[in-house]
Amino acid sequence: MTRTSETGTPASPETMPREELEQLQVSRVRSCVERLQSSDIGYYKERLANVDPGQIVSADDLSRLPFTVKDDLREHYPFGMFLTPLGEIVRIHASTGSTGKPTVVGYTRSDLELWADVLARGLAAGGVTRDDVFQNAYGHGLFTGGLGFHDAASRVGATVVPTSAGNTSQQVMLMRDFGVTAFGATPSYALHVAEVAVEEGVDLDSLPLRAAFLGAEPMTEKMAARIEEKMGVEVYEQYGLSEIIGPGVASACGYADGMHVWEDHFIPEIVDPDSGERLPDGEVGELVLTAPTKEALPVIRYRTRDLTRLYTEPCPCGRTSTRIARIMGRMDDMLIVRGVNVFPSQVEHALMGMDDLEPHYQLVLSTREEDHQDDLSVRVETAEHVAKADHEALQARVSETLREALNLTATVELASPRTIPRSKGKAVRVLDERTDAG
Ligand code: ADP
Ligand code: ZN
Repeated sequence: MTRTSETGTPASPETMPREELEQLQVSRVRSCVERLQSSDIGYYKERLANVDPGQIVSADDLSRLPFTVKDDLREHYPFGMFLTPLGEIVRIHASTGSTGKPTVVGYTRSDLELWADVLARGLAAGGVTRDDVFQNAYGHGLFTGGLGFHDAASRVGATVVPTSAGNTSQQVMLMRDFGVTAFGATPSYALHVAEVAVEEGVDLDSLPLRAAFLGAEPMTEKMAARIEEKMGVEVYEQYGLSEIIGPGVASACGYADGMHVWEDHFIPEIVDPDSGERLPDGEVGELVLTAPTKEALPVIRYRTRDLTRLYTEPCPCGRTSTRIARIMGRMDDMLIVRGVNVFPSQVEHALMGMDDLEPHYQLVLSTREEDHQDDLSVRVETAEHVAKADHEALQARVSETLREALNLTATVELASPRTIPRSKGKAVRVLDERTDAG
């Protein structure tokens, strides 16, 4: 997916020499620690009691600071970790709750400005300007996707169409009638919109639509390529999480090789998920993010539970920030099947390489009757052109492909087109039907 031209012109914090950027990060972290220590929140007083902000002089010194985990936010539910009084908080959001009770986050007016700025960089990196019509099909509400993209697209000056997710026929109609040029949604919802367009006889390729800003759930490169083909767009992947700010933590540029972390505000590290030790650049591990500049809810070394790697090689676009590779998966989504670790993204990668399959799949875990071991079934839709008579051979091929990719024998269930539930937000990829589940 390498592209020949870079569309957006990077703003100055995006092209800052790395040394200068690191100095900026260090001074921001230091002031943040001082602020947290002088707050009247007991949690911070206790956590940071032994930290001397004066000792934070280089990016490596971040590892002197303690981690923050999702449970810290949950234990202070709902507003216990806000540094500013509610009177200054102008917006509340919450995480989707994909992995349990949602965590609650608050924004001051200046936090909202910051959020719009960083995500606007991501849109600009995908060439969005005031001449674009941006259809925002991320869910609007407590989820950070909808309002996050709304403010960022407004910041760029695009004409925003806040459709939110759902009512898919209408999405397609408006996309055509309004001359939509840029689109935002989760990858799974983007696929669904493309599918409904076909059903409604709307040829997306013939519309002015050219770019899709997709995020909030894992998407393999092959899935992105499928969406590009089905929608007739270029995909610009977006990464973020509520606890840090929402979408706008990292964004792809025109070269589509990883995502630039907006590092003047969000400082990435990779740690070993078990030991918490920092890993060298290039190694895969858990992404840890520090957000020192937010007013209401700055975060020190937040354990995202997302697995990826960092790289700092210069990008041809001119941005100097560290990039994160595509997220391999969430640690919480990792399945252990008969002792073998499996991520849904590995299954996706294997399946998306096969022309006879549609990009709709689910993993079903169950308990085998004969020996009470875990069993993994992969349910995947066949393409429209596949005849029933060819199913047996296809099933064998899929099974073999999965065995090679996963080192595991999975049961393959071929599903008819359009039978696996479609999602408006984050797709549910894993169904746990084990008898002793939980
Ligand atoms: P929740 O953690 O409840 O899903 P959020 O709505 O804040 O709450 O979603 C943030 C999470 O979404 C991230 O931690 C990550 O797992 C996932 N995510 C966001 N963007 C991407 C992306 N581009 N690729 C993979 N996963 C992503
Ligand atoms: Zn770049």
